[in-house]
Amino acid sequence: MKYCKKCVMPDTRPGIVFDEEGVCSACRSYEKQKTVDWDARYKELEALCDKYRGMNGPDKFDCAIAVSGGKDSHFQTYVMKELMGMNPLLISALDNLQMTEAGKHNIDNIAEEFGCTMIKVRPKAKVQKKIMRLTFENFGHPIWVCERFTYVAPFHVAINFNLPLLVYGENVSYTYGGPGAEDTYSAKKQILNGAASDIPEDLLLSTGITKADLELYTMPPVEQLEKLEPIYMSYFLPWNSHKNYLFARSRGFHTLTHEWEATHHIEHYNQVDSYAYSLNGWMRYPKFGHQYTTDFASRYVRYGMITRDEAIALVQKHDHDLDPKTVETFCEFVGYSESEFWQIVEKHYNKDLFYKDDWGRWIPKYPIWKA
Ligand SMILES: [Zn+2]
Repeated sequence: MKYCKKCVMPDTRPGIVFDEEGVCSACRSYEKQKTVDWDARYKELEALCDKYRGMNGPDKFDCAIAVSGGKDSHFQTYVMKELMGMNPLLISALDNLQMTEAGKHNIDNIAEEFGCTMIKVRPKAKVQKKIMRLTFENFGHPIWVCERFTYVAPFHVAINFNLPLLVYGENVSYTYGGPGAEDTYSAKKQILNGAASDIPEDLLLSTGITKADLELYTMPPVEQLEKLEPIYMSYFLPWNSHKNYLFARSRGFHTLTHEWEATHHIEHYNQVDSYAYSLNGWMRYPKFGHQYTTDFASRYVRYGMITRDEAIALVQKHDHDLDPKTVETFCEFVGYSESEFWQIVEKHYNKDLFYKDDWGRWIPKYPIWKA
């Protein structure tokens, strides 16, 4: 297990690449932001908006924004509505997990603050639960179904409203390192980035759900997709999670500060919508030896907010420490006892990266604080 010389990201992150100087591709893409001609990129976005503005006639929607209610969604909506003068329809693909107070507030705040209409799409809860059990047990990827829905459902809604221009936030693979990393504005291949790639349909159907249950999880046919122009906002404007958070807060976004201090996070503004969702990110810890704390500590080092040594201390303190409230709310929703839950987690520990000590705890073999 190697770690980036600049941040604290290990080479076990799927799809990340290290160069000959031992620096990860996420650090390199952040550095490259400094050399991008942002004025030219901004003009590209304006040109794209000029192409679609008013396309459905006066007083009609002319673009769609896939929003989660998060900090980035606030920023995207601001750019499209207030800077580009578009008339966006907000599409919020939700899930059925118990929401936090901040999450409930934020999703409504976007529509109200920016004066937009929002369509909320919610999948069938029973189907969601069945798929969550399947992907958690087989792949250690409990929230696959929610991520898939977030990516795919907006395509269907955008097509139905004849809104080819569909705006997503960040190009995760390119910004943070991942499969198919490419500096592109087009989000057509987003589905391949690993978070929500295909799980064989047969396997999904083996849970007793039907093909009809999967309609909004299945990409629209190619001839419909070809008419769409899904884009990443992160291609057109300099992208910084913390800056987006500060912006969102100035427009009424709520954090979890007074509600929940998750032990495996070091911030209060990322994925704040529900307690259970964050299990997905944490499951990367047993599988790949790192999770959210490593992600955010790495970002903060890149942004110049903390030193690499400070980041290492945060990783050592938080990365392993899955919050009990995440476990509790996840188990309650899906229907596991906590004992069943931990037995499944056990199965996903990667024995190349961890060993069990005399206390029965999983200990990382190659932690960054000993590297
Ligand atoms: Zn790095």
